[in-house]
Amino acid sequence: MPTLADVVRELESTYDPRWAESWDAVGLVCGDPSSEVRRVLFAVDPVAAVADEALHWGADLIVTHHPLYLRGTTSVAATTFKGRLVHTLIKNDVGLFTAHTNADVADPGVSDALAHAVGLTGPLTPLLPSADDPRRGLGRVGSLPAPLSLREFARQAARGLPGTAGGLRVAGDLDREVRRVAVSGGSGDSLLGTARAAGVDVFLTADLRHHPASEFMEAPDGPALIDAAHWATEWPWLTEAARRLASGLAGKGITVETRVSETVTDAWKTTAECEDLK
Ligand SMILES: [Zn+2]
Repeated sequence: MPTLADVVRELESTYDPRWAESWDAVGLVCGDPSSEVRRVLFAVDPVAAVADEALHWGADLIVTHHPLYLRGTTSVAATTFKGRLVHTLIKNDVGLFTAHTNADVADPGVSDALAHAVGLTGPLTPLLPSADDPRRGLGRVGSLPAPLSLREFARQAARGLPGTAGGLRVAGDLDREVRRVAVSGGSGDSLLGTARAAGVDVFLTADLRHHPASEFMEAPDGPALIDAAHWATEWPWLTEAARRLASGLAGKGITVETRVSETVTDAWKTTAECEDLK
């Protein structure tokens, strides 16, 4: 009988908790290590819609990328959405496990899956290598098999990522040629300077704010920017994480069923445009 302890051991052998940033909160959030685990649902966000999906499918464990509690808490009362989620999970004997920045820097990690989703082929190297092991690190740099215009690459990336209301925002000359590409799943503001120094043609990430993006584009000869939905940039990793868990456990004679959540947990539901600006 596969137990939660077996599954957690396998997940932590793939996504070592020691790789997580010091401010992060990764690992088992709730769940009894002796509980049986047959079905594991992978999702980006620990939110009510994902818990509903887990209960509907009969999952015993949810593995999310984002932590439920990132900072200290003194209460899991069901008076907040987080406390309610904990109650729902415990009442239904569903565990919750988080692999966050330890999955970002893993090799392969979150940005490898993103790079493949937007069409990069061939070797990928970390955009910002980890100090203790340069094979791991944040973001990835790689190449397209053939040059594309920025416009064509943005369309390809949009097709490769799951759909979200906001789509992709593109900054730069749409006719410029791009071949070397940097990507970083999630909020990539902090890697703007690193992407420029890497000499890539375009940097694709999420959550870019006005001032950093504006100042980045004002400097001459830098990369173009593509800003995607945070959720969409991390979602491709779920399939890879599910595959690695299932195959790792299979190698030990343990069978679990995995599923990747298709619930779109991006916060933005639609966009509105001024007709005059079209
Ligand atoms: Zn994220």
